[in-house]
Amino acid sequence: MTAIRIDGKAMAEVVRNEVAEGVARLKAEHGITPGLAVVLVGEDPASQVYVRNKVKQTEACGMRSFHHVLDRETSRDQLMTLIDRLNTDDQVHGILVQLPLPDHLNSKDVIEAIDPAKDVDGFHTRNVGTLWTGGSSFVPCTPLGCLKLLKSVEPEIAGKHAVVIGRSNIVGRPMAALLLNESATVTMAHSKTADLPALCRQADILVAAVGRPQMVKSDWIKPGAIVLDVGINRIPTEDGKGRLVGDVDFDDVATVAGAITPVPGGPGPMTIACLLANTLQAAKRSYID
Ligand code: NAD
Repeated sequence: MTAIRIDGKAMAEVVRNEVAEGVARLKAEHGITPGLAVVLVGEDPASQVYVRNKVKQTEACGMRSFHHVLDRETSRDQLMTLIDRLNTDDQVHGILVQLPLPDHLNSKDVIEAIDPAKDVDGFHTRNVGTLWTGGSSFVPCTPLGCLKLLKSVEPEIAGKHAVVIGRSNIVGRPMAALLLNESATVTMAHSKTADLPALCRQADILVAAVGRPQMVKSDWIKPGAIVLDVGINRIPTEDGKGRLVGDVDFDDVATVAGAITPVPGGPGPMTIACLLANTLQAAKRSYID
């Protein structure tokens, strides 16, 4: 391996410590304790794990955590009533509705019902619009974490060619907007992109957010490029437990790249840390407003 391994776990700890200090200051100076409400509908096992981690880390950095677990059959009206209540609750500064929702609930509708000032996931169209027009808004946590990881190895992003593979609203699109706001030249690739390896070979910065295990190989990489691997995929192993891998073939790509994030231990841990940072920011804004 020749590439620098970008340590998302260590960096997430730094962010969490900064948030904890900010929370302590806000409490001491203004008597405000930031609060994050997490809403989970149904019993999706992966979502339950994410929510448990979010609650634990929210409390660990001194914030209040409001945890709402609703029955899988919860109606749209019941969910909207809860969101209205959280929107007007002064102790709640951030609201997160864990996705995916059960099929009978329209996630777009639900996200639009959240007060944009409490939308710490950055999914409300007002925050999306602000991001794309170069303003200051809540930025979705995974791409925000990726940008911090990128800046830890490359402070000068302006003028670099960044290729983002994947165009989801959660990762690919906001990642492209963030890189554009940093004056990178951004190309978005997706499932219909022709000759993806050739495009990726032009990238100084490559972000993979696809959901295809170890798709990106070393012959896709420009020597010295920075590679951020957002993908989280479980592949089968002989012991039956399975193993988590990214969208990038780490061992292969690390022989050519200049720096690379591992999976696990890359953008994953940064995501919750950035959620906490966004919640602190929401609480500070509530004070200023
Ligand atoms: P998604 O399914 O919504 O989007 C996948 C994107 O990949 C689509 O835009 C599609 O066009 C593109 N794509 C699919 N096949 C392709 C191909 N062969 N070539 C090029 N592009 C292709 O997924 P998502 O929600 O953006 O998540 C992507 C990955 O990131 C998943 O593995 C997910 O688990 C992971 N993820 C990780 C975190 C984290 O905290 N690290 C957060 C969110 C998502």
